[in-house]
This record gives sequence, structure tokens and C-alpha cells, in this order.
Amino acid sequence: MNNDTSCNIPSGCEIDLSPAHAKPAAMLYSRKAQATDTIIDINGVKIGGRGFAVIAGPCSVESRQQLFATAYGVHAAGAVVFRGGAFKPRTSPYSFQGGGQKALDLLKDVNRELHIPIITEVMDTEDLEAVCQSADILQIGSRNCQNFSLLKKAGRTGKPILLKRGYMNTVDEFLLSAEYILAEGNPNVILCERGIRTFETSTRNTLDIAAIPVLKDRTHLPVVVDPSHACGHSQYVPALAKAAMAAGADGLIVEVHIHPETALCDGEQSLSPNQFAELMDDLRIMAPALNRKLA
Ligand code: PEP
Ligand code: MN
Repeated sequence: MNNDTSCNIPSGCEIDLSPAHAKPAAMLYSRKAQATDTIIDINGVKIGGRGFAVIAGPCSVESRQQLFATAYGVHAAGAVVFRGGAFKPRTSPYSFQGGGQKALDLLKDVNRELHIPIITEVMDTEDLEAVCQSADILQIGSRNCQNFSLLKKAGRTGKPILLKRGYMNTVDEFLLSAEYILAEGNPNVILCERGIRTFETSTRNTLDIAAIPVLKDRTHLPVVVDPSHACGHSQYVPALAKAAMAAGADGLIVEVHIHPETALCDGEQSLSPNQFAELMDDLRIMAPALNRKLA
């Protein structure tokens, strides 16, 4: 048998084996690359630094009435960015999947009326253009934290990106996912701790509170916490939100619904606008003791 496989194989069409980006001297997310905190400015709303920025809104956009009523409520209570999902990553294919383009249009209407920046999730590269038209911040969800082609393409849009920690990802893996976006020349990355999967079942996930000081030590990027997905029950959300501020987070992303009991998605973990306003009052009292200022 002839083991010389090199014979008669045509050359050409060779694969480029070099990585797309040369490795920097220090990871772009690291304090070595940048010692000072990154502060992201979204039309005057700052995320990072001394300010504490609260993002709030429903899990999903359901109707104009639901969206505007919730938006007015959270805005009046002090939320500085409005959230609402148009493309939803649901565990079951038979659950509500999000309102798509119509939902994006309604989010844009909220932005026009209240002048509040909008964050919404992009699940697929094919929706990037449409989502960029309506969103001021792109949300990349926990399930897509290691969807590297999405990270690269979303990074190239130049839009600020809130990257949620994969529920099975270590802090190192999470930071490397952020690096994918930074390596595309997009410095506007907000990290979001939203709970990880553990053996505990009393809560939907386990909020990794220690990840906050660890991330603040290892990266200059702002860190926000999602207490809603972390625990899955609205009655525990205020405690986790306050713990996040005490642990050094730069802000929160909280689910709020005008009628949590009828929400199409994540009603159990959604605060009513009144409950949200009470939480904001508590955070406003806590902030000075922690040398923070509610944005
Ligand atoms: C959400 O924010 O509604 C969401 C789906 O979050 P996560 O990706 O953290 O599950
Ligand atoms: Mn949700």
C-alpha cells in the first residue's frame, strides 16, 4: 500500500490558518488592557462608573397598551432604559415566540414618545438589521452567550451590546465571549449576570453574587444584574436587586409587567409597576451609603 498521500493531490484553494484577529498583548476585556472603568453612553444615559443604571420593562412586547402602560410606569419610577423582547428564546416551540417586527415597531414608538433608550434581544444574525433599527442596545441572551457567529456579527454593528452570561458558563468563558465582541472593534459591552444552573430548585437559577466582584476585578466593562431571571419569583427580586447593588454591580435589568398574572412570558418573576417603584425607592436610599448615584 502506498502511504504517500501527497502525490497527485492538486494544490490551491488552501485554507487560511491564521486567526481573524491577531492576539492582543492583553485581553481587551482585562484591567491590564484598560485600568479605568468603561462608561457606555447611550444618548446621554451612562452605564458604568459611579452611576447605577436601572433597565426595566416586560419580558415580551404583547400589545401597544401593555407596552406603553409599563413604559410610563417604569420611566416615572426612574428606569433609564426600557426593555421588551420581540424575539423570545422559549424552551418549548409551542410557547409564545415574540411579536417580531410588530413588537420592534412598538418599541420604537415608546422610544419616540418617552425618549428612553430601548434594549431588545437579538437571537439570530438574520434579524440584526431589523433589531438595530429599533434598539439602542442589543441584548444577547444567555442561550446565545457562546453563539460566536452572532457575537461577531452583532459586534460589527458597533451598537452597544448587553451580553448575558450563559447559564452554564464560567466567568472565564463569559469574558471570552465578551472578547469576541471587543475584538470586532466594538468597545461598548455591558456584562449581565443572570444566574447560573445549579442543583438548587427553589429558584429558577442561582444568582452568582460572587461573580460581581470577580468581574469588577477582572474587567473594566460595566456589570449589571438581572434578578428576575436569576430567581424566577417576583417576591425574591427586590432582595437580589439590593444585594447586587451592595456587591458592586453597575445596574440592573428587571422585568416589569402591567399585569404580571396575565403575562405571556415570565409573569411569575415580573414586578408590577408599583412594586418596581418601591424597589427604586429602596435603591435610592441605599445608593449614597455605597457611594453610588442612581442614574
Ligand atoms: C430575557 O431577558 O427575557 C431572557 C430571555 O433572558 P436570559 O437570556 O437571561 O434567559
Ligand atoms: Mn424573560
